[in-house]
Amino acid sequence: MHEMSIMQNILDIVAETTAREQGTRVTRIDLAIGERAGVMIDALTFAFEAMSPRTIAAEAELIISEIPLRYQCPTCARPGTEQLSQCPACASFYEMVQGRELQITAIEIE
Ligand SMILES: [Zn+2]
Repeated sequence: MHEMSIMQNILDIVAETTAREQGTRVTRIDLAIGERAGVMIDALTFAFEAMSPRTIAAEAELIISEIPLRYQCPTCARPGTEQLSQCPACASFYEMVQGRELQITAIEIE
């Protein structure tokens, strides 16, 4: 389950940020995950519950929001859909411009 190593990275970043801000505990972690990030949110939540108790984020609330897929024509910037592979205006192939993200969007530190 690669969500364990992803969560380890997230907790490392949280610990570094908390140390830099001279905080003593973390109260909330916000993540934004693309629909196509290749991460199962349930597994990531499970990894957080399993791993966070031994860290500075032991009391933190984990909030995960999903970033929807978004396609766009690389030539004329017309928005596309997953069903449509080619732009009807200029026949370019749509590109996925959003949906593969895996980001920490906020960390609340006290
Ligand atoms: Zn186009």
